[in-house]
Amino acid sequence: MKKHNFSAGPSILPQEVFQKASQAILDFDNTGLSLIEISHRSKEFVAVYDKAVALVKEILNVPATHEVLFLQGGASTQFLMTAINLMKVDGGKAAYINTGAWSNKALKEAKNFGEVIEVASSADTNHNYIPKGFNIPSDVDYVHYTSNNTIFGTQFKETPETDAVLVADMSSDIFSKPVDVSKFGIIYAGAQKNLGPAGATLVIIKKDILGNTGRTIPSMLDYQIHIKGESMFNTPPVFAIYVSMLNLEYMKAQGGLEAIAKKNEEKAALLYNEIDNNPSFINNVAKEDRSLMNVVFLLKDASKDAEFLAACNEAGISNVKGHRSVGGFRASIYNAMPIESVQALIDVMKKF
Ligand SMILES: *Cc1c(COP(=O)(O)O)cnc(C)c1O
Repeated sequence: MKKHNFSAGPSILPQEVFQKASQAILDFDNTGLSLIEISHRSKEFVAVYDKAVALVKEILNVPATHEVLFLQGGASTQFLMTAINLMKVDGGKAAYINTGAWSNKALKEAKNFGEVIEVASSADTNHNYIPKGFNIPSDVDYVHYTSNNTIFGTQFKETPETDAVLVADMSSDIFSKPVDVSKFGIIYAGAQKNLGPAGATLVIIKKDILGNTGRTIPSMLDYQIHIKGESMFNTPPVFAIYVSMLNLEYMKAQGGLEAIAKKNEEKAALLYNEIDNNPSFINNVAKEDRSLMNVVFLLKDASKDAEFLAACNEAGISNVKGHRSVGGFRASIYNAMPIESVQALIDVMKKF
């Protein structure tokens, strides 16, 4: 039986995408070859790559000022690439909004390349809200934030206002709703939450912010080199890009991000409604900051945690255990999560 998979990442993708991807592993587009044995420079794969980039541009409405790259190394490599490509070698300074484990890791990496100012933090209450009303100095090389906090279940509902270059880690909410890409210097996302398999990292970057640091950047970390090479400075993650392309086609067929956002809102509302009305459960996140992608919740009686997980397991529900730093439970309800699966979880909660 196919399980209801609430994993935070790598995570669920549409069943149709899995079907097509498995076919391409055996015989890619009737070429008699597997997708993963052809050259990344073959016209067949270049067409896949071009289509993936074109779909990202179309679905996210990426302006002509920005480039789209598929790199490797995950969001974790972007923590340092953003810093090394944007922080000035003399007096480099960057502002970070610290909303949890991932922003904290990004901030730590940036410290290797210049001064980091933590302009706001939610650490005082274990990151259960999004800081508001803070000031961002205007003399920084860039401002970094994490748009959705996968572990703590919080999400920025507004883009932070700043005149500085804005950088966002959107690993866990990219393609979940429309975004005004023109406001950003860099958007990056590990594919494995809402886009495709682990191995590809999507980077959207405004070209004119590059080349101003005065430092020598190693080739593999230099965005300008990857732009020039159209993500093929080295062998790109061909399978991950292909599956991402299939998922982007699927998103487009769904009606794009407006339609997808509406479904995501409905799914999240159903689940939060159950948590708020079921006397056995609570959610400690500030209501206005609740993530529509990662829903964290606790049993009021934590001694029943194992019993609840067993009941979930019985109903074919997998991966709802919370992150070790938060405890309790986490249901990740990315784009591909059907409303029927959310309902299956709610049914278990109602009976519990
Ligand atoms: C999963 C995740 C990461 C880590 O991504 P990797 O691809 O494993 O490096 C970083 N940031 C956020 C917000 C995430 O959800």
